[in-house]
Amino acid sequence: MEQSALFTIFGGTGDLAKRKLYPSLFRLYKKGTLKEHFAVIGTARRPWSDEHYREIVKETIQELQPTPEEAENFSNHFYYLSHNVNDTKHYDELRVLTDKLDEQYQLSNNRIYYLAMAPQFFGTIVEHLQSQRILTENGFNRLVIEKPFGFDYDSANELNQQIRAVFPEKDIFRIDHYLGKEMIQNISVVRFANNIFESMWNNRYIDNVQITFSESLGVEDRGGYYENSGALKDMVQNHILQVVSLLAMEVPVSFSDESIRLEKVKVLEAIRRYTPEEVEDNFVRGQYDAGKLDGTEFAPYRKEPNVAEDSSTETFVAGKFLIDNFRWSGVPFYIRTGKRMTEKGTRINVIFKQVPVNVFHFDNEDEQELAQNVLTIYIQPTEGFSLTLNGKQIGQGFNPEPVKMDFRQSAEVTENSPEAYEKLLLDALRGDGTNFSHWDEVANSWEIVDRIRKTWDQSTPEFPNYAAGTMGPKAAFELLEKNGHEWNWHP
Ligand code: NAD
Repeated sequence: MEQSALFTIFGGTGDLAKRKLYPSLFRLYKKGTLKEHFAVIGTARRPWSDEHYREIVKETIQELQPTPEEAENFSNHFYYLSHNVNDTKHYDELRVLTDKLDEQYQLSNNRIYYLAMAPQFFGTIVEHLQSQRILTENGFNRLVIEKPFGFDYDSANELNQQIRAVFPEKDIFRIDHYLGKEMIQNISVVRFANNIFESMWNNRYIDNVQITFSESLGVEDRGGYYENSGALKDMVQNHILQVVSLLAMEVPVSFSDESIRLEKVKVLEAIRRYTPEEVEDNFVRGQYDAGKLDGTEFAPYRKEPNVAEDSSTETFVAGKFLIDNFRWSGVPFYIRTGKRMTEKGTRINVIFKQVPVNVFHFDNEDEQELAQNVLTIYIQPTEGFSLTLNGKQIGQGFNPEPVKMDFRQSAEVTENSPEAYEKLLLDALRGDGTNFSHWDEVANSWEIVDRIRKTWDQSTPEFPNYAAGTMGPKAAFELLEKNGHEWNWHP
């Protein structure tokens, strides 16, 4: 169904706008979700003309192979306004253009403000949207904002108060692009549409849960940004804790944004708040050293561009979360994420407990233990899931052996599936906040992560401590071993 809205993209000349937003808007255009009744205002400091802006927009959609006519018609909906977000006068020009386009394209006063800029500008932008009367009374006003949402609880809270002074929570769409990914969304379907899993989804049957977000790339050209962030804030505070809450939440009353959020927040509230001693016991940080993988030599993190020579920034985190509620008490949720690891892969392993008694006797003396059942959810690069069960080895005797039932989406289906940003933009157009982070989730995540950060900041780590091309420091393996577990990482 066609949606009508005006998108105002702050940071319209930036990397995110060009790489993600314009191609995603074009996909929505090709599908007819955006047709005649939409317009885009790109704003940034550079003095571009509409013509130049449209040429840039056309370049960004080349990969999607538009016909010349499609590219022309699509890009004609784009307008550029040179604008310094700190300058009040510019917002008056923005209001004039906004009102004009609203009338020209009959946009019913529906407005989406996309802040594709550094967070320090969010406060001033939203204040000006209100004070310069760009917000409308009839029609919707929705704010889409990018991560990072603050750099700790206090800064996130301050940012939130600034935004909430202007926008109600229901109109704020905090992007966590992982929530737009197909297989992350599939977690809920696997859980709530399959009785075999939901009936066993608790501490009676599940031994431990493992979540891995590994990257083979190093910090590339983002050293400046990463030095102020590190893996804990860049990955754990947002993406990983979102995945933990989706895996651990109770069945929502209905599949609506409000019911889901309610359940996710309860999980985050039940995650144990660690003392400094518990942080030391349950969390491991790492930084990559030089290393070699498949014949390629990699430099250490400390030699990457814009990185301090004695940097203590972590490029790896592993940890154990405990959820103190009836369903999960005693089940560790292990997480790990890092750069320059052996391979790129985002994967969840749900490891089931052993049967109470093994009645089979293995012929082979070394193999006396049954394999545990494992449900694996593959998020990227391949998408799908697998289930490891024990079957009988063909031949004499009753030797059990693990057998894997494996389902992966075909490359064709994956390629043609909507991109995360496309889905999230459509959700924002429809006013559906299911796949965005609510403030209560953000606040809880920061509270959890701040405790880890504060403990770590009390001492200087012995970095570097893992070779590029490996799965992280030794301590990340010992973390599981001391609980009698090990990372499950089969392809
Ligand atoms: P970028 O540096 O490429 O773009 C920033 C934009 O802001 C540019 O258009 C610039 O002209 C504009 N700008 C800066 N100061 C301005 C001012 N005073 N007035 C008006 N315009 C100004 O940044 P980006 O990579 O596009 O990231 C934008 C936001 O999205 C950031 O918050 C970032 O953390 C987040 N983000 C980006 C990515 C990504 O893939 N690039 C991924 C996740 C989150």
